[in-house]
Amino acid sequence: MKLFKKVLIANRGEIAVRVIRACRELGIKTVAVYSEIDRDALHVRLADESVCIGPASSAQSYLNIPAIISSAEITDSEAIHPGYGFLAENPHFTEACSTSGITFIGPTPDNIRIGGDKAKARQVMKKKGVPVVPGSDGPVSDEENALKIAKKIGLPVILKAAAGGGGKGMRIVNEEKDLGNLFHMAHRETLAAFGNGDLYMEKYLPEIRHIEVQILADNKGNIVHLGERDCSVQRRHQKLIEEAPFAFAPPRFRKQIGDLAIKAAKAMRYKNIGTIEFIVDKEWNIYFMEINTRVQVEHPVTEMITGVDIIKEQIKLAAGEPLSFKQHNVKFSGHSIECRINAEDPERFVPSPGKITLFIPPGGPGVRVDTAAYTGWTVPAHYDSLIAKLIVYGKDREEAAARMRRALDEFIVEGIKTTIPFHKKILNDPDFLSGNFNTSFLEKKNEAGKKPL
Ligand code: ADP
Repeated sequence: MKLFKKVLIANRGEIAVRVIRACRELGIKTVAVYSEIDRDALHVRLADESVCIGPASSAQSYLNIPAIISSAEITDSEAIHPGYGFLAENPHFTEACSTSGITFIGPTPDNIRIGGDKAKARQVMKKKGVPVVPGSDGPVSDEENALKIAKKIGLPVILKAAAGGGGKGMRIVNEEKDLGNLFHMAHRETLAAFGNGDLYMEKYLPEIRHIEVQILADNKGNIVHLGERDCSVQRRHQKLIEEAPFAFAPPRFRKQIGDLAIKAAKAMRYKNIGTIEFIVDKEWNIYFMEINTRVQVEHPVTEMITGVDIIKEQIKLAAGEPLSFKQHNVKFSGHSIECRINAEDPERFVPSPGKITLFIPPGGPGVRVDTAAYTGWTVPAHYDSLIAKLIVYGKDREEAAARMRRALDEFIVEGIKTTIPFHKKILNDPDFLSGNFNTSFLEKKNEAGKKPL
């Protein structure tokens, strides 16, 4: 099987750099696209070729399908890697690629459609015997219906956007009297964010962990999983720290959740790479939550403990290669933690764009930094505030945590505010270190009147 000669990367920041690195190692030429404000971005410098696709606004550049497709055409790119965010989960983009004879490095448009409609994904899983959180069958049409379902499954419930992502349009309803108001608020927010106001409902489960499983699938229907990640340290339903494996799980948990992930992927005839997200409750019940049809920000922690380069595998799978290993060949060793370093105020989490006057990332044994930042680079205000992912590996969780503390101490970023001080607090927190946490961890700490985390 022949790999692509040239790949265009329809993204920016650390993920564009990550994909360029994988392509280089596979002997594939790369094309960067960039907005006017990203002229000096690292991904532009590292790629073999680059094309300016429009002004700073995402709508006119990184979301501009015609500009990206024509950039691929004029550079003779055979494939497009979408990274995450932007066009990565847009089935129209996938179809535009195939109409132009360009391979989309990702799943099929059908996979993306199911992943993008979380209410539908729940239905598909339920039908195929993958457990889902008790809730609505499909979208909830109106407030009245919502009340009926809430009465049936019992409060509290969570209203979620069918087209959701990034925690938008989510509302927890604790009391019946608030349901109407919250339903309308969530609907408005969802409509504004996604152009589709559909909401679905689940029972709101207390004290849960967010555990997800990385899967790889070839065009012949072979599917393997690369184990689980624990992404329970969240703020407003957004991940801040991720780990692999889930160190506090009982024996056989990995096999159980891995088998479920494969069942879920098979249920939707999944192709390429993806992540099945689950909720795990205190009794170790596992419920399907959603499928992410893209490479995820946190993929490196899985790479660190399996030795599999997920992006290289993704490119090979998109080129039509069969999976080169079987489930029993996947070996897990050690522990990995990732901290998302954002250009944000570490206490209020408001964006802090601007010029980085000094950038010295940590190094040494077991430390990996995925970033597109450098000294003298200006973080634009137009995009996501993630500027670096600090990933460490240790022989066990204790060594990984010690290494992360050491690496965070070494990390120098001057000129802008970052979330490094926040991560230092977490990595020194006794509850975090002993595994005594769930998705409400930060909220609970703040409620307890401790210094805001
Ligand atoms: P998004 O795609 O917007 O990120 P998800 O469906 O992945 O939304 O959920 C994000 C987070 O919200 C989860 O990791 C979890 O912390 C919380 N959450 C979602 N559904 C439930 C639920 N039924 N009960 C409790 N927490 C939930």
